[in-house]
Amino acid sequence: MTTVVKGIKLRLYPNKAQIDQLWQLFGNDRFVWNHMLAMANQRYENNPASRFVGEYDMNYLLKPLKKEYPFLKLSDATSLLVVNHNLALAYQNLFQHRGGHPRFKSRRSAKQSYTGQSICTVEAKRRLKLPKIGSIRTSKTGHLANGKIKRYTISHDATDRYYISLQVETEVHDLPKTNQKIGLDLGVSDLAIDSNGVKYGTFNAQWLKKQAQRWQAKFSRRRHQATVAMRQWNHHHKLLKMALNDYQNWQRAKMTKARYQAKIANQRKDYLAKAIANASWYQFRTMMEYKCDWYGKQLVVVSARNTSRICSVCGHNGGAKPLAIREWTCSECQTHHDRDINAAVNILKRGLKATG
Ligand SMILES: [Zn+2]
Repeated sequence: MTTVVKGIKLRLYPNKAQIDQLWQLFGNDRFVWNHMLAMANQRYENNPASRFVGEYDMNYLLKPLKKEYPFLKLSDATSLLVVNHNLALAYQNLFQHRGGHPRFKSRRSAKQSYTGQSICTVEAKRRLKLPKIGSIRTSKTGHLANGKIKRYTISHDATDRYYISLQVETEVHDLPKTNQKIGLDLGVSDLAIDSNGVKYGTFNAQWLKKQAQRWQAKFSRRRHQATVAMRQWNHHHKLLKMALNDYQNWQRAKMTKARYQAKIANQRKDYLAKAIANASWYQFRTMMEYKCDWYGKQLVVVSARNTSRICSVCGHNGGAKPLAIREWTCSECQTHHDRDINAAVNILKRGLKATG
């Protein structure tokens, strides 16, 4: 049995009271960040030689701060510690020339969030119990089932949606030992092919290109539609400056546009992810590595050099073959080979040799 940490993101559907509460908590984190930052700046201004206030000192300051500003007690206390931790990190990065000076956070920025480290529990199929917030409606909690939630971040984005990102510690059971071995060759026409001749995934450059063009066209069209809509609202807004209705409509248009943009960004990301997953041997290998690790399987990576040239039956090196040649016959032993399967068998042999 192995313990692994998985990242899971769920949509949150807070009710009206919970929305107010969440914004209070976003604000509390921002308040602590800005307060600590202002204090550190002032301290430095007063005496440039003074010692930097570290995470520990900032945590110590939280107590009197909570007394002075009781609304801070509405927050999950661990989230305020996370703020201090992040601010101390930002300063460390500054001192080590890895980042700029920490900046004040604005309530107007589209993205708001806070991170806590207390326990969240799954209440039902679509319900979580969060510290200080209580029971809240979510998207499906199914894959959280047996996990221990170690850290959570609640966020709000420009499309007016709420999310929770969770770090879940979960136990993975080793799969039964089968004593079976398989060779895998990462190919160009197929993502992977094994030494038994099974092919996995397809990589069709032509298809991917067509998809990309289709999405680009859709994206441009939608962007145009959104821009026209925006211009119209802006125009109305100019003509009827005082009309509250128009302001609301404009807000709505702005949100719709942001939603569109987020959707398109996601679609593009998805498409790219697919293209990369199909094409990227590196990603495939990384996934193989951690999955084998999770399930107690042994992964041996070997050099694929010459594996498509050498005959897996007699070991004769048949020389280089252009990629277009998918099958060949060994001139020594006359075995007829599928190029990729032959390579996968050679890879299996190399792996077995490497492990003794
Ligand atoms: Zn041969």
